Amino acid sequence: MAIDLTDYIATVPDYPEPGVMFRDISPLMADGEAYRYATDQLVDYARGKNVEMIVGPEARGFIVGCPVAYELGVGFAPARKEGKLPRETVKATYSLEYGTSALYLHKDAIKPGQRVLVTDDLLATGGTIAATIQLVEDLGGIVVGTAFIIELKDLHGRDKIKGHDIFSLMEY
Ligand code: IMP
Repeated sequence: MAIDLTDYIATVPDYPEPGVMFRDISPLMADGEAYRYATDQLVDYARGKNVEMIVGPEARGFIVGCPVAYELGVGFAPARKEGKLPRETVKATYSLEYGTSALYLHKDAIKPGQRVLVTDDLLATGGTIAATIQLVEDLGGIVVGTAFIIELKDLHGRDKIKGHDIFSLMEY
């Protein structure tokens, strides 16, 4: 049975700052059927791309990517913030509204030529996903697709990852 996933997104005005409409996926994750329904669609997308590995940025990229990896029987590598990964890493910086941030991947997280799906809960300006893609590509991986629960169209995140395939379950 089809589920309208928009019923499971909470919209929070003025969070984390005035003027921002925050889309909160936690009601979706809290409902077993809705979470599975969303995951199943991401799994279908990943199957079509012959994905061999999944990479997601801290922290909601894990929530989206890990169940897909489990279902496909492929690995998952976390892209993490500064100081979280214990071994040798590659680093990608990206700009935030004020200042910059960075994400890291273990150097052995991806094998050269591996077909990688990058996942996150939400595509906004695209900075986070562009940095995650850069990490994968720095290690010689091939990003065969990107998958999200939500895409915020007005923020034009697509423009930052031109040339990459984008799959999202909902658009606002
Ligand atoms: P971007 O880098 O501007 O595309 O922002 C995407 C990242 O910020 C993702 O990792 C999201 O988890 C987070 N994010 C930005 N806006 C929202 C929102 O409205 N709801 C949930 N997460 C958001």
